[in-house]
Amino acid sequence: MKAMVLQQIAKPLAFAERDDPNPGPGELRIRIEACAVCRTDLHVVDGDLSQPKLPLIPGHEIVGIVDAVGHGVESDKLGRRVGVPWLGHTCETCSFCRMKAENLCDRPQFTGYTRDGGFATHVLADAAFSFDLDKDADAVSLAPLLCAGLIGWRSLKKAGSGKRIGLFGFGAAAHILTQICVWQGRDVYAFTRSGDHRAQMFALELGAIWAGSSEERPPVPLDAAIIFAPVGDLAPVALKAVRKSGIVVCGGIHMSDIPSMPYAVLWGERELVSVANLTREDATEFFPIARLAGVRTHTTTYPLEGANEALSDLRAGRLSGAAVLVPTAS
Ligand SMILES: [Zn+2]
Ligand SMILES: [Zn+2]
Repeated sequence: MKAMVLQQIAKPLAFAERDDPNPGPGELRIRIEACAVCRTDLHVVDGDLSQPKLPLIPGHEIVGIVDAVGHGVESDKLGRRVGVPWLGHTCETCSFCRMKAENLCDRPQFTGYTRDGGFATHVLADAAFSFDLDKDADAVSLAPLLCAGLIGWRSLKKAGSGKRIGLFGFGAAAHILTQICVWQGRDVYAFTRSGDHRAQMFALELGAIWAGSSEERPPVPLDAAIIFAPVGDLAPVALKAVRKSGIVVCGGIHMSDIPSMPYAVLWGERELVSVANLTREDATEFFPIARLAGVRTHTTTYPLEGANEALSDLRAGRLSGAAVLVPTAS
């Protein structure tokens, strides 16, 4: 197998060739067709998230074909197209797992963080944390659904059923979620980096009814807002944009510090909450909804060996939509 490997925090990934891995009990081996690049991958590579497995193959938005199965996995899995998300395994015994909050498991494994991920030609995955995907769809288009889509969906559930939804940071997650919200009949207000007219145009093309810089106030008070940008300064900004009892959801895994703010910003029963990881139930709900809503992802593809360039482009905000790595067939 071929892979792009993180040997050391904050260093570029290195190309490596290894023996193909053999699936253990309950595992699948997947020949990867596409793996999208998520902001969380940047946080792992940059060391914002503590103690990754090292050396590590990052990547947790994997689409591929099952080409080997381990003990205890039905052989009819062979040849199927599956997706592998961030949540790679849970203990099923801790208090959170038992109360159906496996996203908060005390002993979880995360794909591309505590176990090897998809910046590679092959990956091993827990069969119980892999999802069947449509074989007729385009693998590259599906890949961003595995995290940007799923985390966006979980964030939207946290945001409640309000009609006016603000999205702060218009990258991979927001571009998918806008399409879902529009399909649901909601109004999307897109907030981008100051002066990022390209992202604002992109949001409007996808059906947002308003787009502006995050410094701007929306024309009407919002029912809820979701912050996808890893910028803590946006927490009070978003709280000021929502009405009384409005909800602000922090959708990212890492954020710069949230500044102190007058209590009045939170007053009025406004809520500020985070979203952590995903559950398998989120995936079971989300994939059919994405299909019904006709979600079309906007992607920029890179060869596997271009992983460092993809990470740089994401860091610099040079992408509309999602970066996706595509290993060349060999
Ligand atoms: Zn657990
Ligand atoms: Zn992710």
